[in-house]
Amino acid sequence: MTPAIFLGAARYRRPSYGANHPLGIPRVSLTVDLLEAYGALPEVEYRDSRPAADHELAWFHDRDYLRAARRIEATERASAEDRRRWNLGNFENPAFKDFYSTATLATGASIQAAEAVIHEGRVGFNPAGGMHHAAPDQARGFCYFNDPVLGILRLRQTGWRVLYVDLDAHHGDGVENAFAEDPAVLTLSLHMDTAKGYPFAGGGLADWGRDSGEGYALNLPMPAGAHDDDFETALATLWPWVSDRFQPDAVVMQAGTDILLPDPLSRFRVSTQAFLRMVERIRADSAPRLVVTGGGGYHPIALARCWAGLWAQLSGRGLPEKLPPRGRELLEAVDWDLDEDEDWFEDLFQSRLDPPQSGPVHPEVSEALAWLRSHHPLLQPAGKAAEAAP
Ligand SMILES: [Zn+2]
Repeated sequence: MTPAIFLGAARYRRPSYGANHPLGIPRVSLTVDLLEAYGALPEVEYRDSRPAADHELAWFHDRDYLRAARRIEATERASAEDRRRWNLGNFENPAFKDFYSTATLATGASIQAAEAVIHEGRVGFNPAGGMHHAAPDQARGFCYFNDPVLGILRLRQTGWRVLYVDLDAHHGDGVENAFAEDPAVLTLSLHMDTAKGYPFAGGGLADWGRDSGEGYALNLPMPAGAHDDDFETALATLWPWVSDRFQPDAVVMQAGTDILLPDPLSRFRVSTQAFLRMVERIRADSAPRLVVTGGGGYHPIALARCWAGLWAQLSGRGLPEKLPPRGRELLEAVDWDLDEDEDWFEDLFQSRLDPPQSGPVHPEVSEALAWLRSHHPLLQPAGKAAEAAP
């Protein structure tokens, strides 16, 4: 048995979101094609995604919201009231053709990935998932349904404690909020300061929960321009703290690629290989009790290179750095020229890795880590956690 399964769907080859939307780019399909060019996605490791059932969506989402989304898909019409109440049918969360059934497929696959862990002891990778902003009764930030929440809830049905780690450039607010009352789920998120980026609130160092709920969260806003050493130092410091203190039975990793250097929506400078080293740290400690989802990532070429490398790690195979000729052709055929004047643009087609983005660790990062170490209740010596109040 192979150690991991890849959850895909032919559906992802159809256009979605709309041509001018940041997600109106090839993502899962390009990753699959690149892996096939490498000969790294055999049929036995690939599984078709199944849609999430209504009762599964209702573990987290309001029935009225689900009904409204189904109606909007069927009538292909969202009213002003739909836009206001459900945040559906606007530019951010467009009601593109079959948006509901496409989103339920991406959502069901995170539940399947959890079940692959529970029943088969295999890591599940759902690159179409990672929709970490969706709220119970609203679409948010391009996310219709919160598949990481549903995957975690499926793992929770076994009684397992779950650590959620969010590498996406944006704060994993929807997942954090979902588990504010659950002490058996810990969320860890590294992201853009929400004073300057989506979702524009929360996710601060001192936002660790427990003011009304039972659960903790751990958040680390990263400075603009944060590079390989910033992110790797942060994760290398935080990961042993949270995994030792929390002792999870399973890990859910959201692997959005928008922290990568070429990404047009964030302001970080992380190389593909640094991203993959962070993934490896988490994988080595967690597999096979590991669910991996996709997430943000708005540069199709950078994303496909990165997720191809991610899959190689999860499935236990080496992948040459040099792109195979067919893979290079595929990437060159993508309709994308936003950054063709950048000096690294040509590199994107030579190798699946990047020039390293090293540098001295930003003082904001070291200071934030030291502050968390001395203030975050979860990281205090045993017995003190109960006394510490936000
Ligand atoms: Zn993001």
